[in-house]
Amino acid sequence: MAKKTAQAPSETFTGFTPYEIKKGEDYMSAEMLQHFKDLLLDWKQELMEEVDRTMHHMQEDAANYADPSDRATQEEEFSLELRTRDRERKLIKKIDKTIDRIDKDDYGFCDQCGVEIGIRRLEARPTATLCIDCKTLAEIRERQTGI
Ligand SMILES: [Zn+2]
Repeated sequence: MAKKTAQAPSETFTGFTPYEIKKGEDYMSAEMLQHFKDLLLDWKQELMEEVDRTMHHMQEDAANYADPSDRATQEEEFSLELRTRDRERKLIKKIDKTIDRIDKDDYGFCDQCGVEIGIRRLEARPTATLCIDCKTLAEIRERQTGI
């Protein structure tokens, strides 16, 4: 049996076709919003399947180890998988919140300064709520205060 290792959920989703902005199209037009909503729903689906797989994997493996040293390794693997699942759950919650914002037509603008976050940045990070400048600044502050 091939050894499976838990992988951290990616903060990005790649299973989509980049949006083609039409000439003269307004930022966050209804069509654009729909594009991101579809993208987020697909991403959520993928993550939920991932959570399922982790669950199955753990249930399958639980019965397979009799040797105590194997069990120790297994426990380590399990705690890693549980952490991964926890992150997946948090990410799914974040996606739900983002979809909610799309439904309220409150998507794509920086929470801090109000500028357009930008289609390409949002495609790379669909749950982003800050523009690149504010995000960079926030990260610098985080590093300085150590929080
Ligand atoms: Zn900003």
